[in-house]
Amino acid sequence: MEPVAGPDGATLYRDEQPARRGSKASYYVVYSDADRETRWGFYCGNCHTLDNAVDSMGRVECNRCSNRTKAEEWDAAHE
Ligand SMILES: [Zn+2]
Repeated sequence: MEPVAGPDGATLYRDEQPARRGSKASYYVVYSDADRETRWGFYCGNCHTLDNAVDSMGRVECNRCSNRTKAEEWDAAHE
């Protein structure tokens, strides 16, 4: 787990393995505790921010660099 600074100054923890592939870079799951009990959101691997949004379809889009995932399915085999 990689500690990252949250928007309110709290320490959050980023998974070391990418969770979702985006159009520009992968997203990583972020937790609010080091034990992965509370999922906080996503970390953009392209611009290194936590400023993104998840829509009702489960897609993640970065508010800074427009990095976005496709649908919910994780399709690493088709690279
Ligand atoms: Zn971004």
